[in-house]
Amino acid sequence: MPDMNTHVPFDAATAVKVDCPDAGAAEWLGAHLFEWFGRFAPNVAAAELRSAGMTPALPQGDEAYAIAADADGVRIAANTLAGVRWAAYTLRQLAIAKRGTLMTEGYIVPALSIAERPHLAFRGVHLCWFPEVRTQQIERAIRLAALLKFNYAIIEPWGMYGSERHPWWHWPNPSMTKAEVSRLVALGRDLGITLIPQLNTYGHATSARGCTGKHAVLDLHPEYEPLFEPGGWNWCLSNPETQRVLRELIAEMHENFGTPPFFHLGCDEAEPQTCPECVKTPNDVLVCRHIAGLAEFVKARGARAMIWHDMLLDRDDPRWEGFVKCGSKTTATLADTLPKDVIICDWQYSYGDMKETRSDWPTMAYFKEKGFQVVGCPWLNFNAMKPMADYIARIGGFGFVETTWHHLRGEEWEKMFANAADAAWGSPVSHGVSFQRSLRMVGHDMKVTDYLDTGHLNYQVPPGWWVDNY
Ligand SMILES: [Zn+2]
Repeated sequence: MPDMNTHVPFDAATAVKVDCPDAGAAEWLGAHLFEWFGRFAPNVAAAELRSAGMTPALPQGDEAYAIAADADGVRIAANTLAGVRWAAYTLRQLAIAKRGTLMTEGYIVPALSIAERPHLAFRGVHLCWFPEVRTQQIERAIRLAALLKFNYAIIEPWGMYGSERHPWWHWPNPSMTKAEVSRLVALGRDLGITLIPQLNTYGHATSARGCTGKHAVLDLHPEYEPLFEPGGWNWCLSNPETQRVLRELIAEMHENFGTPPFFHLGCDEAEPQTCPECVKTPNDVLVCRHIAGLAEFVKARGARAMIWHDMLLDRDDPRWEGFVKCGSKTTATLADTLPKDVIICDWQYSYGDMKETRSDWPTMAYFKEKGFQVVGCPWLNFNAMKPMADYIARIGGFGFVETTWHHLRGEEWEKMFANAADAAWGSPVSHGVSFQRSLRMVGHDMKVTDYLDTGHLNYQVPPGWWVDNY
């Protein structure tokens, strides 16, 4: 653990030795220390440390790391570049400016001896690219997630993805352009966080929040009505043109995201199909064929499909009392019929009991028993995060995804990221360093100059405050 009372130099005279089988690790570390600390960056050299016992014992696993920092310098051991990254982020968070001068003249870090590894291999955040969300906010969230040692970010476009194949699918002037996606994907790859695209392929076809009455397609392009069920919430699953369009969008996004190993197909909160063609096929058969077909398409592209869980639980089943479930007896049969390599993202938000501290999550155990890999997904239920992640680890689940929706702001952002990061990693991931300090580092990396890109809120006082007559 860091000894906050004893600091050692961390500057241009410091040697950082790194022991990692990845030949590129020392170079990555040197480049990033220079980016963060400029002319005060320590010198980096590859070295054999483990056999000489010069670091704490390195745990097994791709993401494990061990660091020793003392008067002799800093030593890092890791099994892969991923471990070196997490070690570097820990050092960066703990380094502070040398004391006693007007301006920075070097850095110091607490004397420390740390060896750790995450207890979940898949640690994600789910980010919503609303029309109201600025690109800078998405980039800040991605960078901060990486700094907090999340290794995946699922990006949901909300009508903002600038598809070239189907430009009618997005709102006018979408900020999630293909060039911007490529840039963020490359950034994520360098930082150790893989971006995963999401496309709502069943319900939520509006690409807009239901409570707003908006529809990203039909409000401006009514000519595409046949692709949707009457009302527009669901895609029309029996229409071969829907199937073609969805596959083309999946291919375009998957390619644009650099062919990541996962693709999220959405599938939450759908309504029963109602159009005259869809009702000719039993709903369970139609929906299963649809999701299984798209999952197969994703698989053929070398990736695995993820879906939200809720349509796979019958809302009238007493076993799920108090848990999120949106399905019927019919759609619940999907838990038996869907291909088992579809990853189930079980979002449990402790509705009605935000102080939830339960340690067992029976819906997650249910999907695990059905043969699926399952991901636990909390939201604003901060107390539930650690028990949920621990439960997923205990049952051998797949991972943990913090959903953020329209709450990527203010203290909610802080509590979501900070608590979820600790829960997914399995121990305090920032070693006591505040969210604000970490967020500020992200701003430095982005070289922000705009007031709006600082802090966790755009404004200290709402812009209308001085003009409203109250
Ligand atoms: Zn239909």
